[in-house]
Amino acid sequence: MPRPISATIHTEALRHNFARARLAAGDARVWAVVKANAYGHGIERVYEGLRAADGFALLDLDEAERVRALGWRGPILLLEGVFEPRDLELCSRLDLWHVVHCEAQIDMLAMHKTQRPHRVFLKMNSGMNRLGFKPARYRGAWTRLNALPQVEEITLMTHFSDADGPRGIAEQIAVFAAVTADLPGERSLSNSAALLRHSGDALVTHAGRLAVVADWVRPGIAVYGSAPDHPEHGIVHWGLQPTMTLATRLIATQDLVAGDSVGYGSTFTAPQPMRIGIAACGYADGYPRLCPTGTPVLVDGVRCRTVGRVSMDMLAIDLGPVPEAGLGSEVTLWGRSSRGTWLPIDEVAAAAGTVGYELMCALAPRVPTQAA
Ligand SMILES: *Cc1c(COP(=O)(O)O)cnc(C)c1O
Repeated sequence: MPRPISATIHTEALRHNFARARLAAGDARVWAVVKANAYGHGIERVYEGLRAADGFALLDLDEAERVRALGWRGPILLLEGVFEPRDLELCSRLDLWHVVHCEAQIDMLAMHKTQRPHRVFLKMNSGMNRLGFKPARYRGAWTRLNALPQVEEITLMTHFSDADGPRGIAEQIAVFAAVTADLPGERSLSNSAALLRHSGDALVTHAGRLAVVADWVRPGIAVYGSAPDHPEHGIVHWGLQPTMTLATRLIATQDLVAGDSVGYGSTFTAPQPMRIGIAACGYADGYPRLCPTGTPVLVDGVRCRTVGRVSMDMLAIDLGPVPEAGLGSEVTLWGRSSRGTWLPIDEVAAAAGTVGYELMCALAPRVPTQAA
């Protein structure tokens, strides 16, 4: 028998979450962001659940090829654009749309020989200071691109740094609106946090009028059943469902007396007699080693807590709430139990001091994963 750990990708939940994102998007078209192998879910495994998308946005050219190999004929967007000139050949061949965020990418396009002009997304650095042209350079970049025969259509794009927090998007929207006011073309804005939190006020008022109307939005994490602004809000608040379940079984139990300690470093000591279960899941499976004693976990669908340090292949659970649990009992590290209860990935991430994104992306290749 194989080691009992496995991950399940929930097609119906992906469909549900995508529909939720579409509702928030109003009339805008919606990219399903599937970078990082669909946030660790596997591009092939999410495809069925996300095929209602208007396009797929990603970073790696080989991921773009995989989406085309699945039969997708609609838009695909390279969110970081191309990395070297020959990437443009693949863009021509596979009809990939690509972000242009720096002069070097315009240089590459200017040298590129193509039959079919490209659709590009010109990125403005409106305050995040990661990728994109500074506001003062943006119109110059647009003019240069617009003059190239290699370019068919230019979409205007920016990315928000604080959509999930108190600073919000107003300042960046104001910058973007001011610079792009009289430029033609569609607009692409909004990750999950901006889409869920700021669609209403959105895109919003600048000097009292609608400043920017998004034609395309780019939700990622919300589609994968994680709240972009946890812990302020959880997935229930946003009407999202878990799309990834990481589950295993108990492979041992131990009866402790008061004073017994558990695991490497003996970081947990039993204050009284207690029963613990040993689950076949550790950091080599992608479960964060930084999860301390008290991290939530479901045993037979009932909420319990971890005790002691997470090892490479195992972790320990206080079986107090589930006295009937034993060898073979179902352990849900995140996602949904077969009893119908949920443990949002965000709660486990928070215990480890990180975000749901990191946990789903870190699901280890050794964990057998299937779509259901
Ligand atoms: C990753 C990414 C997104 C999606 O962000 P989420 O927070 O996962 O919704 C949107 N736009 C760009 C440019 C990205 O890189």
